[in-house]
Amino acid sequence: MAAAEKTDIKSMNEQELEAMLSQMGQPRFRSGQIYKWLHQGVKSFDEMTNIPVLLREKLVENCYISHAAIEKKLISAYDGTVKYLFSFADGETVESVLMKYHHGYTSCVSTQAGCKMGCDFCATGKGGFRRNLTASEILSQIQAEQLDNNLRISNIVLMGMGEPLDNYDNVIRFLELVSSEHGLNIGMRHISLSTCGIVPRIYELADKKLQLTLSVSLHAPNDEIRSATMPVNKKYPIDELLKACRYYAEKTGRRISFEYAMIDGVNDSDACARELAHRIRGILSHVNLIPVNSVSGSDYRKSRSDRLKSFIDILASSGITATVRRTLGSDINASCGQLRSSVVKSSRGECK
Ligand code: SAH
Ligand code: SF4
Repeated sequence: MAAAEKTDIKSMNEQELEAMLSQMGQPRFRSGQIYKWLHQGVKSFDEMTNIPVLLREKLVENCYISHAAIEKKLISAYDGTVKYLFSFADGETVESVLMKYHHGYTSCVSTQAGCKMGCDFCATGKGGFRRNLTASEILSQIQAEQLDNNLRISNIVLMGMGEPLDNYDNVIRFLELVSSEHGLNIGMRHISLSTCGIVPRIYELADKKLQLTLSVSLHAPNDEIRSATMPVNKKYPIDELLKACRYYAEKTGRRISFEYAMIDGVNDSDACARELAHRIRGILSHVNLIPVNSVSGSDYRKSRSDRLKSFIDILASSGITATVRRTLGSDINASCGQLRSSVVKSSRGECK
């Protein structure tokens, strides 16, 4: 069978795997054994030592096991944050970051190679869109990091390259796999999904009542500023987005995390803080302020620290909690999109 026609076995859930194996005339317990191997991160069917050779051969013939190969790895000298550039079978590359917090290890994974959304401050957005990742390719990033460092990851943030809600079906499938009892068994409460605001998908996700944390990349208090930096806002303006956020919080009982990249002279005035407070008042939420990372090709600069303080004070006086997000791996450009873009550029000979 041609490679492209083979089944992506690691993207199958337990029931689907069981159905496929039963069609192959296999007893039920085999699917449990194979599911376990896949979720331990094996790269080939040969590693499944308790599976009969004939069945392994049949699986090789019909299926493939996707995996994330380490192309490049940078380790922060400050805090041990590890940034990976992974490649998949077709040569597409994505970034992922492994971070250590007091409560354990967190992996920030990519959901797409590139992104269609074109946010002006984002290195991924500037690089354009390549393709969606499959559920198994999202999962493989976590597995590769666990195996490379011999540790267990306890938290996941879907905040790497790509817009998760623009790859909705694969992301939902990934969530099912990664939280499954016989998989990595990482609970939804330990997973955050970050979106630029694809409104209809937020409603869909809310109706699933998954208990995961929704992070919304707001970055502006009004349509004028938001549309100038985030094209998605022209399709789904702030009022519609916040209505969907309110719905998500009410439906799930989960606090929304609003991400707000502080950009010098663009969105960091006291008036912006007051407008933001007015807009999000009453939504069960928390605001994360992130001093913007400069990326090549845009001249946005980080806000001064007195701006951050003033923003926090103004939000607090309206009863809204805001904190400055701890930046990890600042010496290795840990925010996603930057490593890949430098590698892609250098391979095209555009920069050193
Ligand atoms: N596409 C999703 C998730 C990936 S981006 C989203 O946009 O939410 C992850 C986070 O990094 C988002 O909050 C995004 O707005 C933010 N981000 C992108 N470029 C940044 C930069 N240069 N500085 C600070 N945050 C940035
Ligand atoms: Fe895409 Fe998110 Fe970057 Fe915007 S910030 S371009 S949605 S990855």
